[in-house]
Amino acid sequence: PGPVKESNVDVLIIGAGPAGLMAANWFARFSKQGLTCRIIDKRSDKIFTGQADGLQCRTLEVFETFGFADRVWKESNHMLEICFWNPDENGVINRTGRIPDTIPGISHYQQVVLHQGRIERFFLDAMSHHGNIHVERSILPESLTISPSSSSTDSDYPVKLQVRHLSLQESTPSQFGSNVASGLFRQVATEGDVSDAPSAERTGDSEIINAKYVIGCDGAHSWTRAQIGAQMHGEQTDYIWGVLDGVPITDFPDIRMRCAIHSEGSGSVMVIPRERGVVRLYIQLAELDVEVDGQKKRVDRSKITADMILKAAQKIVRPYTLEMEDIEWFTAYQIGQRVTDRFTNVDATAAQGEQHPRVFIAGDACHTHSPKAGQGMNTSMMDTYNLAWKIAHAVLGYSTPSILSTYESERRLIARDLIAFDHKFSRLFSGKPAKNGDDMGISLEEFKKVFEKGNLFASGTAVDYGPSAIVAKDGKAVPQYAEPEDTDDPSAAGVRTVSRTGLSTKILPGQRVPSTKVLNHSDARPWHLNELLKSTGKWRIVPFLGDPRSASQISRIQALATWLDSENSPWRRYTPPALPVDALFDTLSIHSAPRAEVEWFSFPPALRRTYNSLYVDDASYHEGHGHAYDFYGIDREKGCLVVLRPDGYVAFVGELEDTDRVEEFFEGFMRVPQGCPRGLGELRRELGAG
Ligand code: FAD
Repeated sequence: PGPVKESNVDVLIIGAGPAGLMAANWFARFSKQGLTCRIIDKRSDKIFTGQADGLQCRTLEVFETFGFADRVWKESNHMLEICFWNPDENGVINRTGRIPDTIPGISHYQQVVLHQGRIERFFLDAMSHHGNIHVERSILPESLTISPSSSSTDSDYPVKLQVRHLSLQESTPSQFGSNVASGLFRQVATEGDVSDAPSAERTGDSEIINAKYVIGCDGAHSWTRAQIGAQMHGEQTDYIWGVLDGVPITDFPDIRMRCAIHSEGSGSVMVIPRERGVVRLYIQLAELDVEVDGQKKRVDRSKITADMILKAAQKIVRPYTLEMEDIEWFTAYQIGQRVTDRFTNVDATAAQGEQHPRVFIAGDACHTHSPKAGQGMNTSMMDTYNLAWKIAHAVLGYSTPSILSTYESERRLIARDLIAFDHKFSRLFSGKPAKNGDDMGISLEEFKKVFEKGNLFASGTAVDYGPSAIVAKDGKAVPQYAEPEDTDDPSAAGVRTVSRTGLSTKILPGQRVPSTKVLNHSDARPWHLNELLKSTGKWRIVPFLGDPRSASQISRIQALATWLDSENSPWRRYTPPALPVDALFDTLSIHSAPRAEVEWFSFPPALRRTYNSLYVDDASYHEGHGHAYDFYGIDREKGCLVVLRPDGYVAFVGELEDTDRVEEFFEGFMRVPQGCPRGLGELRRELGAG
């Protein structure tokens, strides 16, 4: 080993699974503004078959804002219907119902399935394209210390990590004996992906990395979690899940549908049709209990084979036949239904004083549960989608670090809900089906009801963050499944501004904006609104301008534009002079007049800064009418004023006149940069407007 190298970085991510890659992808968008980020992983392999595969519609909406949802949409299998199969009075399974897989109307996307390796590939491409960030593999962190000065300034690098470069043997664990790629350990795969072999010269070298912030995305057995003293709470369930991916040969008619099949006495199987003709079977391996000395004992997980899982499935689908010639991947794993007591190195419930978090954990490091509802990967990515922009804004000095505490207050409730949901969902799935007069079993009606409600939760579109400095509302965060806790919204104390209620039925503080079509006013092109809400790291001011054909509305619009140009507007007050004027704030306006009845130049320059700033709720030539004002339940004459966070969640809703509330909202956490505020002339010159 050579001398110990030491370096500084703004953010270090430990673990390059879905949570880590989502974070790195976000940070890549800030690298042009000077943010530095490294991502390390102890494994040598880049990608693998199997593991998680379900992508919920909210996740696809987020991918769309990063510009790669189309790649997923094209490659994935689309899940459109769920079929329920249950035993009849003779114990023979038959189809007892069908429901849409995604509740119609909740999103412009539907659930799809694609293996985790491909999803990771899309992230890797985006990271290297936007920020030249690459995963550094075969690196193991060995110690982590946080210096006591961690509360002071953002120019400190208070987190010190010692890491070691591993050899290929150390970073590629052997598989349990089997010819089939097994998820008992992660498996190298597939087309176009090459493993990064560790460099022989560096093997054994230690390195010290000093970071401003660290995110532990290092999975269910998180090393980072142990370093910050966080504890998982909940239950280790007895269930071993068998998962089998392969191309089936069968006479079962619904093999290309998502199916929940309950047999009379052989357990249940979930069928997930996948891309490339592959089908995934999920089975709770109850039958693998064995009797030892008169006692039921679990078989050793590592002894489970693909054949054992297939045999269990064959019993469940009888009298139909099921063979798999081409088994691509299998796994067997035991799950805990657990959530960590804290998401950062700072105890959120203790008096914090000046201290703000420096080390965060995300993804499976914070929550583990059954794979049934396809939540693990989705929730993990959404954790860091919530977190990374906040860290970036703190590092770059745009916001005070106070916003960092909202990560835990927002995501811990989601994790607790997820575990409570999983409890309910797993019990339902593994419970025996009811027969007439048997109220111990699960009735089909109960199953369908819980399934439908569960589908809304699982889609990720029902997320509703509680009040905080960055969600202007009052009240309390409301759990969907979990028991309320006193600590559910410790950052509610940060609320300074409250939105007005009743101005929109669908654009609500704390929630994402569902998408519908609007037209670009300048060229009549239709867009889904979500396509326009790119994850650029900017706050967005979204005025619904109402109908500009009335004189009274024109004067309201003019007053809003005057404010946007004034020194009090957030983009002039908070954008650092060294950055482009639109680096931190964007505006996107939507009016409700017929497009042909109002001219582009009749709008004030502040609202038509670029040709992508002004939109209209009108019919398109070829793609219908989004009826945006009706869809969002916004008054067509008067409109309203919306502020969106960089992650697209609604921060504030008010009247067009509520600019003082918007100022007050941003004063709660934004930093006024050093140096003179931007002059209006400078602003206009840069924008080439007016
Ligand atoms: P992970 O994907 O676990 O990524 C963690 C990363 O951190 C890994 O790359 C790991 O190498 C790295 N790492 C770990 N420790 C360290 C360390 N000390 N130093 C450096 N790097 C480290 N979900 C489903 O929905 N369906 C399934 O069928 C399914 N099957 C699964 C099978 C297996 C074997 C496993 C492990 C998980 C499965 N999951 C499944 C769960 C799903 O894959 C996870 O919920 C999801 O991957 C979580 O993402 P993550 O980024 O939080 O963690």
